Amino acid sequence: MNLNPAPADRDYAAELAEVKARVHVAESSCGRSGAGTQILVATKAWEVDAAVGAVRAGARLVGESRMQELAHKGDALRKAGAVVHVIGQLQRNKAGIAVEYASCVQTVDSLKLAERLSRLCVEAQRDLQVMIQVNVSGEDSKAGVAPEEALSLAAAVHALPALEVVGFMTIGLNSSVEADVRAGYAKLRAIRDEALISSERGKIDLSGAWQLSMGMSNDLEWAIAEGATMVRVGTAVMGDRD
Ligand SMILES: *Cc1c(COP(=O)(O)O)cnc(C)c1O
Repeated sequence: MNLNPAPADRDYAAELAEVKARVHVAESSCGRSGAGTQILVATKAWEVDAAVGAVRAGARLVGESRMQELAHKGDALRKAGAVVHVIGQLQRNKAGIAVEYASCVQTVDSLKLAERLSRLCVEAQRDLQVMIQVNVSGEDSKAGVAPEEALSLAAAVHALPALEVVGFMTIGLNSSVEADVRAGYAKLRAIRDEALISSERGKIDLSGAWQLSMGMSNDLEWAIAEGATMVRVGTAVMGDRD
């Protein structure tokens, strides 16, 4: 584990303010003024001092990708008052670290992983929020369940003890073509909309699954235009990772 220390001259509060301004502009230019899009700061690859520095500067919501890193930073993040989400692929044998430190696991993409999380949460007598990670672009390299399977997985996961499905997450297509990237985000929104509509009709029980975690430093405007309720920002706040 080779983590980057906080650069001495980085002003996390100023960087965060810039991202907030971007989010506000994006919201108003697509008619979503005041939508309250949440900003999650992705602190992967950054040392404790950097991650805590961002939290102290106002980044209450933090995302960690690797469980080894989360085990290393978890206590300090908790002490600083951070709310931690898991945003990287989670192996079942590392699920305990997520249950120890995270309030939400955004990367649930199989029932087996969810069953493991559920069992650990019951043992720890806690509840855990989860999102269903969907591979909207269909790229082999991307984790996530296929769009056609997202709703049935969400319903099955939500039925497990101690787990609450609060929405859907995706990693967008890595492309500079706006239409292609947005098509993926629109697909995630359509899945979420179907979850809510089917819940209203009493077919399934996913009325709490309204969140859409999508968009990163480079494309958060496109994600917000497609309905993101949470963007995950690393580089733009933390700086370039080595
Ligand atoms: C690293 C990471 C981010 C942030 O990416 P940036 O391009 O640095 O903003 C967002 N989501 C996930 C899942 C990540 O792993």
